[in-house]
Amino acid sequence: MATETETIQTLNADSLELQKFSELAHKWWDKNSEFKPLHDINPLRLDYIDAQVGLKGKRVLDVGCGGGILSESMFFSGADVTGIDLGEKALNVAKLHQFESGAKVDYQLISVEQLAKESPASFDVVTCMEMLEHVPHPASVVAACASLVKPGGSVFFSTINRNPKAYLYAVIGAEYVLNLLPKGTHDYAKFIKPSELSSWVRNAGLDLAGLRGMTYHPIKQYYALCDDVSVNYLMHTRLAA
Ligand code: SAH
Repeated sequence: MATETETIQTLNADSLELQKFSELAHKWWDKNSEFKPLHDINPLRLDYIDAQVGLKGKRVLDVGCGGGILSESMFFSGADVTGIDLGEKALNVAKLHQFESGAKVDYQLISVEQLAKESPASFDVVTCMEMLEHVPHPASVVAACASLVKPGGSVFFSTINRNPKAYLYAVIGAEYVLNLLPKGTHDYAKFIKPSELSSWVRNAGLDLAGLRGMTYHPIKQYYALCDDVSVNYLMHTRLAA
């Protein structure tokens, strides 16, 4: 019998979640598609990451990279980027898009837990955006990200908070009222409180270095970073040097 850790390491993926993203894969680079919110927030998170670590010349891993929206932008900011995902279609779209954009990201179909076993302490920066709320054991992903970063390096996570306001904005608002996302994109029960993410981060040996909220203004249709972490948020963590 496999131990629980072994099971998590080999199976920390929800096939229905991967399928949801797979069905939409051809739309990753359509800025008016279901992926519009990711395109809209990308400059904000890119600027935040760049301001914290200075991406130029850094070796970066983007975990759950999807079609490569953040990966490519980090490449164009001067980083040497590897992108991993368990969605084969998304990775194919990401690879194809490079012919158009000229980006050179190393995309690989591998779980973060497996890469952590193969290449520990290899990256200056690890990013894991909008992915933790789609996996069965997010703490295992956090621990793997901590293993992959070099001492003194940074790991960034973004996800959705779990409270009535987050339910209203991220599920009812985005999926049912504004139709920004397909119905069923998000499962409220899998949303993650900053306190929960912080405790996984600490257990993984990382230190909290910053926490920012992201708000969406439905009328003006823009996103901004803010202090309010009640819906979407971004966490910066560091591994001690
Ligand atoms: N990080 C990207 C994409 C977010 S969408 C961005 O913010 O732009 C969520 C991504 O997580 C999808 O590409 C999906 O295929 C991926 N994903 C879901 N479960 C995963 C798992 N267990 N391992 C790796 N990637 C996973």
